[in-house]
Amino acid sequence: MTCKDCGKSINPRQYIASKESLGVTLCERHTKLIKKVILDNDTPIEAIHLFYALRDAGVHPMLEWWDGKKSVDIAISRVKLNIEIDQNYNMITHEQAINDLEDAMHSFKNGFTTIRIPHLAIKYYLDETVENVLGIISGLKANIKAI
Ligand SMILES: [Zn+2]
Repeated sequence: MTCKDCGKSINPRQYIASKESLGVTLCERHTKLIKKVILDNDTPIEAIHLFYALRDAGVHPMLEWWDGKKSVDIAISRVKLNIEIDQNYNMITHEQAINDLEDAMHSFKNGFTTIRIPHLAIKYYLDETVENVLGIISGLKANIKAI
């Protein structure tokens, strides 16, 4: 068993501890690091799962990337793609809804594309979610080449 982040081998106790708390196999150091990220940014657990799944797929994502105004759940800087995980559609207030749209507009003006992925898509369809993000990345790459 190895850490999904650094590849360091981990013992069965650490395997269970990281799997149970984060749902990802991580060494002690990376478990602590990810837990701190979650505490600091209120990062949804699905963002952690998508982050490591994208890394497995050969993408270089960044977790909780600071764009100058706010922290983005996952950013893929090569193609200027920001990914926000939506936690609870039903809980969203009207202020939050318009703020999200405004944020998306501002990052779009700066050349960034923002996509919002419902956490349920990641929870139940992680592979399909990754496939779709990969499709978006290749689409963005094609657009960058075209300019
Ligand atoms: Zn590690």
